[in-house]
Amino acid sequence: MSKEYDVVIIGGGPAGLTAGLYSARDRLSCLLIEKGVIGGKITEAERVDNYPGFPEGISGLELTKLMHEQAAKYGLEAIYTEVTALEIKKEQKVVVTTQGNFAARAVIIAGGSEREKLSVPGEKKLTGKGVSYCATCDAPFFSGKPVAVVGGGNAAIYEALHLAKFASRVTIIHRRDRLRATTIVQERAFAEPKIEFLWNAVVQAIEGKNFVERIRLGQVITGEQSALEVAGIFMAIGLKPNTDYLKDVLPLDELGHIIINERMETKIPGVFAAGDIRSGSIRQTISAAGDGATAAFYAKRFIER
Ligand SMILES: Cc1cc2nc3c(=O)[nH]c(=O)nc-3n(C[C@H](O)[C@H](O)[C@H](O)COP(=O)(O)OP(=O)(O)OC[C@H]3O[C@@H](n4cnc5c(N)ncnc54)[C@H](O)[C@@H]3O)c2cc1C
Repeated sequence: MSKEYDVVIIGGGPAGLTAGLYSARDRLSCLLIEKGVIGGKITEAERVDNYPGFPEGISGLELTKLMHEQAAKYGLEAIYTEVTALEIKKEQKVVVTTQGNFAARAVIIAGGSEREKLSVPGEKKLTGKGVSYCATCDAPFFSGKPVAVVGGGNAAIYEALHLAKFASRVTIIHRRDRLRATTIVQERAFAEPKIEFLWNAVVQAIEGKNFVERIRLGQVITGEQSALEVAGIFMAIGLKPNTDYLKDVLPLDELGHIIINERMETKIPGVFAAGDIRSGSIRQTISAAGDGATAAFYAKRFIER
């Protein structure tokens, strides 16, 4: 066992960072474990307009950098490694990672979610070679080139708007005849001259020798098939909660989110879940932060008991 903590937090997004701030400020020994970038999904958002306190908006990266600084000031420790299992041994919980095991009196799971894969031929082979799941990360590689975005929700539109700053043309491919994105976000997309729409269309295959060259499309209504020349394709079709390693440990809902009560408590005493990973979340930064605070509050009560 590497070390024992009062609280171990899995995931360094807004939920985990807020839980870390509250726990560390309560003078609990607290470790946050992050497998990727501290800040989580919101680091992909160029501008966050709906997090209170920033009337001019703030980039997701900057917002979570501030959250991390604030929590670290009170003593939150953080390490970069992946949690692969959670073992429950009576009073003790053991968080298993690729860099050793960490014992905890309470665990807060704040692992968020990952982008869904499209699961079409060519997607796996060309991932990182034109197939991307993050426009904020990869858009500059497509300067002056045509790209496609798959999806019709807010995430897809944000991706398209960001890509329009670099790409020569952005085609949004959506399987329905209208977007799911909120009206104000849709309006921005319709006003962007570089963005065009392919309605009632699905991607059937992604082709290219070494990099993406074209995508094969099928019309949902007519069945007609076509090809679109693009250098890149960005997937924004939905999110899958990061709960694969928890399937036999905790009850999950039909989509894989962790089932909790209003205190963010799971079925196992001393194990909490917060943010996008929990069932019923509205999947926003502010709600994730709120969940993190609630989980930390009740984790402290649990430890004191
Ligand atoms: C493009 C985009 C734009 C968005 N814009 C907005 C917006 O304007 N306003 C808004 O309110 N929300 C927005 N969101 C949603 C917002 O990002 C999420 O609701 C929020 O980040 C959820 O926070 P979280 O802490 O629950 O999870 P996440 O932010 O997903 O963080 C979870 C973290 O856990 C880590 N992790 C997962 N599994 C493990 C493991 N096994 N071991 C170790 N670490 C693990 C992940 O690497 C990740 O860093 C946007 C999202 C996207 C993708």
